[in-house]
Amino acid sequence: MQDSQSSQQLSQAIAIASPLPRKSRQARVVWRNNVVTVGGDAPVRVQSMTNTDTVDAVETAIQVRQLAQAGSEMVRITVNTPEAAAAVPYIREQLDRMGEYVPLVGDFHYNGHRLLTDYPDCAQALSKYRINPGNVGKGDKKDKQFGQMIEIAAKYDKAVRIGVNWGSLDQEIMAELMDQNSKRAQPWETRQVMYEALITSAITSAELAKSMGLNPDNIILSCKVSGVQDLISVYRELARRCDYALHLGLTEAGMGTKGTVASTAALSVLLQEGIGDTIRVSLTPQPGEARTQEVVVASEILQALGLRVFVPSVTACPGCGRTTSTTFQELAKKIDDFLRGEMPVWRTQFPGVEAMKVAVMGCIVNGPGESKHADIGISLPGNGEAPAAPVFIDGEKALTLRGEHIAEEFQTLVLEYVQRRYGQKA
Ligand code: SF4
Repeated sequence: MQDSQSSQQLSQAIAIASPLPRKSRQARVVWRNNVVTVGGDAPVRVQSMTNTDTVDAVETAIQVRQLAQAGSEMVRITVNTPEAAAAVPYIREQLDRMGEYVPLVGDFHYNGHRLLTDYPDCAQALSKYRINPGNVGKGDKKDKQFGQMIEIAAKYDKAVRIGVNWGSLDQEIMAELMDQNSKRAQPWETRQVMYEALITSAITSAELAKSMGLNPDNIILSCKVSGVQDLISVYRELARRCDYALHLGLTEAGMGTKGTVASTAALSVLLQEGIGDTIRVSLTPQPGEARTQEVVVASEILQALGLRVFVPSVTACPGCGRTTSTTFQELAKKIDDFLRGEMPVWRTQFPGVEAMKVAVMGCIVNGPGESKHADIGISLPGNGEAPAAPVFIDGEKALTLRGEHIAEEFQTLVLEYVQRRYGQKA
């Protein structure tokens, strides 16, 4: 029995899982010489949003820079008042002065048509406009005000995200679809009508924008909801019905672990199916938590799926009864913080370093084995083991660290490894 099982396994190798290719058309979000391609064969992009008052140009520019340095490839800012619109060119100017050319996306609701018309410097300083079709106006005014924004986007050759959200869904479309549904022999569930309304709102708005002169390659769509299964249902259908680049995100994902897990669950399923060209993780920051956490989570999702590589990965075991000291946890955290902290500089100084693998392991059970799989790894002594920490470099045991300063010495070894392996050859 065992023999026949093993010969079957040998004749058919296990398929290697990988995300399906994406089929969307490509859009471009540009600021100066920084061209961020979205969709098509471009990498899935990480996006984020500030939570500063846009009127405070300095604070906003600082946070945009922090988000960009953490890995956000576009940053959205609220543009909700004349004062905020007036501040946008100054935010852009400050970023340019710092050499930070991350494209800025303006988030408009209700009065975007007026702000973009009255503040042309704002319209030009932004690289992309986010327009929510549910919040552009009612009745006769809706198409007119939407058209005003599209006209400005076309004039300045800006990308537009038509971003539908179930919290602000176009009520006229919803009412019409509910009415149609009531006449069905077997009416759909209200949730299904809502899915249809979200998709209809996004696609009809995109078609309208196209008919008004906007280059279809400048259009990105999103239909955000806050339920994981709802998001999956809506995006599967949206991707089936159109080829626009799609921005993914679970809206109002929540705080901490809940927001992180829910976003990861929803986005991973879709990304694995080849759906989604930019992502944002809408985390509510916990008190004292950096805004950049949403960028960290978004990058980690893409890196875990093998879609992108942003920062060197630290493989660390969970620890168990074999390692009751906190040394191992502290070292794992310290190395992770060190690598992330250095990345803004390393990215240009040491090309390729983002793919490096570091292992920090708690004891002899899996420590040496896992460390050998990494580029550089350390296996700390567990309870009852000799107080020695072997270090493995490129799969070979290189040396053993002992004493009080293992953490500092290992960090130095990691730095030396990075310089040696990824430093520019003269
Ligand atoms: S490597 Fe050792 S300490 Fe870490 S989880 Fe495995 S047995 Fe526990």
